[in-house]
Amino acid sequence: MVDAKKVKEKISKVSDRVFSGSRNNPHKHCRICHKPIPLSAEPRVCKDTECISKNEKDERNQKQMRLWMFIFFGLFAFSFVGPLILSQF
Ligand SMILES: [Zn+2]
Repeated sequence: MVDAKKVKEKISKVSDRVFSGSRNNPHKHCRICHKPIPLSAEPRVCKDTECISKNEKDERNQKQMRLWMFIFFGLFAFSFVGPLILSQF
């Protein structure tokens, strides 16, 4: 038979751990200098102007990178699909 008391104890122990973990001063870190910043900080950088401009630059680079990936993927896909489509005619 299952010992209800033991199960309850186990559950309370686990939930204790979960809740105390989330209570432990929640915060994020600046993605540039990794300084602790408040959870509400958006974008995820501290108030340092250097971090802000660096983050903006990074984001722009990422956008450009994604665009290039998209183009390359499109070309790659076309190199497979294109001949198939063209051979239909
Ligand atoms: Zn920073």
